[in-house]
Amino acid sequence: QTGAHVPVLVIGTGYGGCVAALRMAQHGVDVQMIEMGMAWDTPGADGKIFANTTTPDQRSYWLRTRTKQPLSNFLGFPIDKDIPRYTGILDAEEFAGIIVYQGRGLGGGSLVNGGMAVTPKRENFGAILPTVNPDEMYNTYYPRANSELGVGLVDPAWFDTVDCYQFARVGRKQAGRSGFPFVFVPDVYDWDYMKQEAAGTVPKSAVAGEILYGNNYGKKSLQKTYVPRIMATGRVNISTLHKVTSVSPASGGGYTVLIDQLNTNGDAVTTKSVTADRVFFAAGSVGTSKLLTMLKATGKLPNLSSEIGKGWGDNGNVMVGRANWWWDATGAVQASIPCGGIDNWAAGGAFAEVAPLPTGIETYASFYLSITKNPNRAEFSWNAATNKVDLSWQTAWKQPSIDMAKTIFDKINATEATIYRSDLFGVNKIWGDHLTYHPLGGAVLGKATDNYGRLNGYPGLYAIDGSLIPGNTSVNPFVTITALAERNIEKIIATDL
Ligand code: FAD
Repeated sequence: QTGAHVPVLVIGTGYGGCVAALRMAQHGVDVQMIEMGMAWDTPGADGKIFANTTTPDQRSYWLRTRTKQPLSNFLGFPIDKDIPRYTGILDAEEFAGIIVYQGRGLGGGSLVNGGMAVTPKRENFGAILPTVNPDEMYNTYYPRANSELGVGLVDPAWFDTVDCYQFARVGRKQAGRSGFPFVFVPDVYDWDYMKQEAAGTVPKSAVAGEILYGNNYGKKSLQKTYVPRIMATGRVNISTLHKVTSVSPASGGGYTVLIDQLNTNGDAVTTKSVTADRVFFAAGSVGTSKLLTMLKATGKLPNLSSEIGKGWGDNGNVMVGRANWWWDATGAVQASIPCGGIDNWAAGGAFAEVAPLPTGIETYASFYLSITKNPNRAEFSWNAATNKVDLSWQTAWKQPSIDMAKTIFDKINATEATIYRSDLFGVNKIWGDHLTYHPLGGAVLGKATDNYGRLNGYPGLYAIDGSLIPGNTSVNPFVTITALAERNIEKIIATDL
C-alpha cells in the first residue's frame, strides 16, 4: 500500500528474485515482491491455466494484438494470428536488432522456458564469470541450485523406446554419424509424470506440446519449487500486476519505490509509493538493465556506475531446421521438453539442443537451438526523445553464431545428404537469427556492481539476476543465474544486515 515501509523490496519474481526473497525471509526479514505479470493461478475458459503452443490466445502474449511466434512460418506460410491484447505470459520484446523473449508473471522465465537445467562444464566457467571462485560454485552453489530447482535426467532406457523422443533419437543418430558427441541434458520436468503422460494415464502437458505459453502439469517451474517455500516462511507478500517504474534515495534513508498497478490491458490504474531499506533488482537482464539505465540517465540514481547497461549478450542463440529423408521421420508427437544436445563447444564454439517441433504432424524436420560463443556485446542507452531504453545489438552480429552452428550442421547435412529448411523463419530464410531466449548482462558482476551484486554508488541496492552475467554461459542460463544468486545472497545476509 502507498506510504508503506518495507525492509526489503524485490523487483521481479524469476530465479534471482525468488532466491533473494526466500533467503531474506528465512533469515527473518519481511519481504515485498513486485511482479508486473500475472499470478497464473486461475484456469481460463478451457479449464486450463496456460494455453497450448498450437493454439495461442490472449494468455500467450504480453500486450500484443498479434502473436509473434519464434518460428514465424511453416512451409513458408506465416502462422501468426490476431489475439486480444492482454497481460499474457510471453513477452516478445522488440529492440532495433533483436527480439528478446521473456516470461511475464509469478515465476518469470520459469513459466515459459524449456526447463533445461544445465550446469556449465567447469573448464568453461572462467569465461562465464571471471571474478567468481569456481570452487565455491561447483562445491556449494551449483549443487544447491540443482537441488532446490529439482533438476533431473531423462531415463535413458525409456528415452530409447518412447515415441515422443523419436525426434531426439534421430538427432543422436545423426550427431554420432558425423562424429559429434550427443549428451543428455538435465531438465526440471517431472520425468515420472512424463512417463505417465506418454502412457496416457494422466493429463498431458509436455506430450501435448505445451511450451512457450506455460505448462499445465509436469514442469517444475518456480511456482512448484521456490515459490511455495517462500510462502511457507509467512514473511513474504507478493503483488502481481504491479510494475516498478522508479527507485530513488528517500529523504529519511532507504529508497522510494514507485509502482504502477496494472489492469489486464496493461494500463496503469494507480501509482503507489513505498519506502524500502533495501531493493533487489531481479527484473531479468533486460528489465533490470532498462530500469537502471533509465534511473541513471534521468537523475534518479545518478551515481550508478558508468558500466550500467553494458556487457549485454544473447548467449549466442541461433535456431535452424534441417530437412530429413523419409526414413528419418521425427514423429508426429514430440515431447516439448528437449533432453539432449550436440556438444561442439570446444572445437567449434557451439552447443546445439536437439529441439522439438511440436506441430502434431510429421514434418521430417530436425530443429535445433544452438548456444554459441558469440563474442559480440551490446549496450543499453537512454533515448530522451522516445523516453525509452534502446539496445545497440545489430542483426548482423549473429553471423559468428551462424558460423559456429554451421560447424555442426554443415557436416551433418554432408553426411546425411540433407539440406537446411528454409521455410520456418520466413520465405527462403534458413537461420533464426532475429531473437534470443537467453538475455544476459547489463549490470555485470564486478563492473556495475561489486563481486556480490551490490550496485556501485548506492548502499542497499543490489542486482541479483541474469543482468550480472556478462553475456554468455556456454549452456542454458537459469542454473547459473540461480547458483550465482544463492552465492551472492549468502554473502549479503552475512555482511550487510
Ligand atoms: P526472469 O526469469 O526473466 O524474471 C524477471 C521477472 O521480473 C519477470 O517475471 C518480469 O515480468 C519481472 N519484471 C521485469 N520488469 C519488472 C518491473 N519493472 N516491475 C516488476 N516486475 C518486473 N533457460 C534455461 O536455462 N533453460 C531453458 O530451457 C530455457 N528455455 C527458455 C525458453 C524460452 C522461450 C525463454 C523465453 C527463456 C528460456 N530460458 C531458458 C531462459 C531463462 O528462462 C532465463 O534465463 C531466466 O528466466 C532469467 O532469470 P532472471 O531471474 O534473470 O529473470
